[in-house]
Amino acid sequence: MKDGASARPLTILGSTGSIGVSTLSVAAHLGIPIYALSAHSKVELLAKQARACHAKVAVIGDPARYHELKQALAGSDVTAAAGPAALDEIAAAPTVGAVMTAIVGAAGLPATLAAVRAGKRLCIANKEPLVMAGDLIMAEAKRCGASVLPVDSEHSAIFQCLEGHRSSEVAQIILTASGGPFRTVMDLSGVTREQALKHPTWSMGPKITIDSATLMNKSLEVIEARWLFGIEPDRIRVIIHPQSVVHSMVTYRDGSVMAQLGLPDMRVPIQYALTWPQHIAGEVAAPNFSTMAALTFEEPDLKRFPSLAMAYDAAARGGLAPAVMNAANEMAVATFLAGRSRFIDIFNTVEQALKQTPNLKQPSLTDIIAADADVRARLAG
Ligand code: NAD
Ligand code: MG
Repeated sequence: MKDGASARPLTILGSTGSIGVSTLSVAAHLGIPIYALSAHSKVELLAKQARACHAKVAVIGDPARYHELKQALAGSDVTAAAGPAALDEIAAAPTVGAVMTAIVGAAGLPATLAAVRAGKRLCIANKEPLVMAGDLIMAEAKRCGASVLPVDSEHSAIFQCLEGHRSSEVAQIILTASGGPFRTVMDLSGVTREQALKHPTWSMGPKITIDSATLMNKSLEVIEARWLFGIEPDRIRVIIHPQSVVHSMVTYRDGSVMAQLGLPDMRVPIQYALTWPQHIAGEVAAPNFSTMAALTFEEPDLKRFPSLAMAYDAAARGGLAPAVMNAANEMAVATFLAGRSRFIDIFNTVEQALKQTPNLKQPSLTDIIAADADVRARLAG
C-alpha cells in the first residue's frame, strides 16, 4: 500500500459503472483493500471484478439475479448477496473505512444514508441523493461523525480551493461546465440520442452524459454544492469552460480567485477523496500547458438550456422541489434514452413536474422518498 492511502477496506457501491471502474483502478494503484462491490444487473462483470480484487462480498441490487451471481462466484472466497438490505450492510459494515457511492440516481439514497449513519468516510460521486436530501444527509454526517468527501470533479475542485479558509471569506463559488455536445447547436429540437451521448471531454455513464447535454448535470451540481459547502445558491455561479481543465473556482472577498486544474480524468478526484488530506503519486499526469492552445470561458445560454434556471428556482423554493426536479429528470432521461421522446421533452417534463410540487417547507426523509415515488408513478402512467 502507498503511504497516505487508507489501510481500512473500501466498499464501492456501483462498481460496474464508469466511476466504479475508475475507483477500482485507483484502489488497485494505491493498494487499498476492497471489502465489497455492488452492481444493479451486470452479474458477470461484478463477479469478475470481485474475484480480481479479492472482495469479501459482492451484492447484486436486483434480488432476482442472486442465484446467477452465486453461480458466477462458485469456487471463490467472495460471498454473494442481493437486494437493498445487503447494499445497506456493505455500506455500514464495521470493517469498512470508506464508501464510494457510485450508484446512479435516487436509487443510491438508502445506502448513502447507511454509510453516513455508520460514520464512514463518504466519497460521494452519486450526487442525486444530495440534491434530494442534502440538508438531512449533511446533518446526519455531522451527528454520526462521517466525513463527506466530494468526488464530482467540480466539487473536489471547490473543496480543494476552500481548504484552510472560512466560508465567510468566500464571495462566490464558480462551477465550470463543459457546455456538452450542444454548446454551439442553436436549434435543439431535432438532436438525436446518439449526438447527445457524445460528450466532448468526459467519458461517463449514459444518464450523466445526457444530463451534461441538457446542463441538468450542472443544475444538480449547484444544489450539490449548496449542501456540501453550506453556501446559498445566489453565491454559486455557472460558467461554460469547453476545455474542462479548470474544474471550478472560488472567488474570495479580497478579489483573489482560487482554481483547481487537471486533465478531465475522474481518477484524480476519486483518488483525492480516498487519500485526503494528502496528494500522493497517482496514475494521471498533470496537464501539459505548453501544448494547450487556450482556456476559454463564456456565459451559459439560459434560453436554450432552461434547466439551469429551473435549478435555481427549485433551490430557492427548497422543500420538495429539488427532489421533484431530480425524479422528473431521471424519468425524462430514461424515456429519451429508450428512444420514446425528444431531447427537448426533458426540459418540458421537468418544468411541468416542478409546477406540481407539493408545498412542504421542511420535508422529512419519508416525505422526500414519497415525493420521488409520486413523480415516477405519475410520469410512468
Ligand atoms: P453508470 O451508469 O456508469 O454506473 C452506475 C452504477 O450504478 C452501475 O454499477 C450500476 O450497476 C449501478 N446501479 C444502477 N442502478 C442501480 C440501482 N437501481 N440500484 C443499485 N445500483 C444501481 O454511472 P456513472 O457515470 O458511473 O455515475 C455514477 C454516479 O456518479 C452518478 O450519480 C453520476 O452523476 C456521478 N458522477 C459520475 C461521473 C462520471 O464521470 N461518470 C462524474 C461525476 C459524478
Ligand atoms: Mg461534475
